[in-house]
Amino acid sequence: MREERLCVALDYSSRGEILAAARRFGAKVGWLKVGLEAFVAEGPRIVSEVAETGARVFLDLKLHDIPATVGRAVAAAVRSGASMVNVHAFGGRDMLVAARESANATGPSVKVIAVTLLTSLDFRSLADLPVSGHPEGIARRLAILAKECGLDGAVCAARDVREVKAACGSAFLAVVPGIRPAGSEPNDQRRVATPADALSQGADLLVVGRPVTAAPDPDAALASLLTEIQSAS
Ligand code: C5P
Repeated sequence: MREERLCVALDYSSRGEILAAARRFGAKVGWLKVGLEAFVAEGPRIVSEVAETGARVFLDLKLHDIPATVGRAVAAAVRSGASMVNVHAFGGRDMLVAARESANATGPSVKVIAVTLLTSLDFRSLADLPVSGHPEGIARRLAILAKECGLDGAVCAARDVREVKAACGSAFLAVVPGIRPAGSEPNDQRRVATPADALSQGADLLVVGRPVTAAPDPDAALASLLTEIQSAS
C-alpha cells in the first residue's frame, strides 16, 4: 500500500537516475517530487515520464516572477503532467491569483501550493535579508496570503505547521520538507524535524530527499522511514 503522506524528492540530474528512482520508489509513496535540478537538466518530458510510473508528481519549481509569466508557467507545468505545483508566496497577491486561475483553467484538480520560507533559512540567515520578524511569523503571514488567493496549501517547516493550520484551517495543506529521521545528517537544512514530530504538528505531506536518495541503501532507508511514519500514526 502506498504511503500517501510521503513524497520522495528525485533530486538527481540525469534522466536515467531519475527514472530508476521513480520506478524504485513510485509504488510505495503517494508522491514523487521533480525539482529544479531534474527539470533544468531534462525538461518537461521528465515530468510525464515520472508520472507514468504511477505516483503523482509534485513539480517543485518554486515559481517567482511577474503574474503573467507565472500564470503561463503554471499552465505549462500542468500540461506536462504535474499534479501539484508550487510558487513563492513572496511573489505577492497578484502572482498567487494568476497561478491559481491558470491551474483552474488548465487542470482544475491540480494543487497549487505556496512556498513560505525556505527551510534552509533560519533566524541568522534572515538577518542578512531585508525582512524582519521570526521565521514562524513570516511563514504564517505568507500562508494566510496564499489561502486568501485560493491556494491549496503551503510548504513550511514542521515547526510552522501549527501556526499555519491555526491561521488557515485544517484543510489547508501543510507540505513539509526538512525531514530528517532521528540521528541523520541535516545537510544544508536548518529547520529540520523527524517524521514523527512533523506528523504530530499536523503535517499532511512529508518531503524527503537525501535521507533516502543519498543513503548507502536507499531501499532500506525508505523502508525504515515508512515504518517510522506508520508507527507515528
Ligand atoms: O534532501 P532533502 O530531504 O533536504 O530535500 C528536501 C527537498 O525539499 C529538496 O528537493 C528541496 O528543494 C525541497 N524543499 C525544501 N524547502 C522548501 C521547499 C522545498 O527543502 N521550502
